Amino acid sequence: MKFTQYDDQNVFAKILRGEIPCTKVHETEHCLAFQDIAPQAKVHVLVIPKGAYLSWADFSANASTAEQADYIAAIGDTARALGVDETGYRILANHGHDSHQEVPHLHTHILAGQPLGPMLEGGDLPPDTEYVRK
Ligand code: AMP
Repeated sequence: MKFTQYDDQNVFAKILRGEIPCTKVHETEHCLAFQDIAPQAKVHVLVIPKGAYLSWADFSANASTAEQADYIAAIGDTARALGVDETGYRILANHGHDSHQEVPHLHTHILAGQPLGPMLEGGDLPPDTEYVRK
């Protein structure tokens, strides 16, 4: 799916407006962290900016320095609040079609609570894969 314009009817915009519930884990001036509704690990939390940003690409280009700083700190503070600093965690944010982004509001996944295995399901790339190097 290609998202070009922010859709204020997306599910995370509704959560931010309080139109649908979430299980809040952490909140800052610019961010909200809540439990993923379909967890893919024992710990699976999403951290979103309160501003209307489609994805990492939009946020990194257009969010204020204060919003960006708050977001980075909020992700680390959320992980600390979850108690997974010592055991470890994975953070990831999907942007755009190739990443399989489903919700068009920036969100960073925090996955933890168990060994998470290799980074990508499916393992190694096929031998004939052309790498993109710039
Ligand atoms: P992505 O594929 O990176 O766009 O991930 C979207 C994530 O949002 C998935 O992990 C979903 O389980 C999660 N999700 C969708 N709707 C909700 C909701 N109402 N509350 C919490 N998490 C949600």
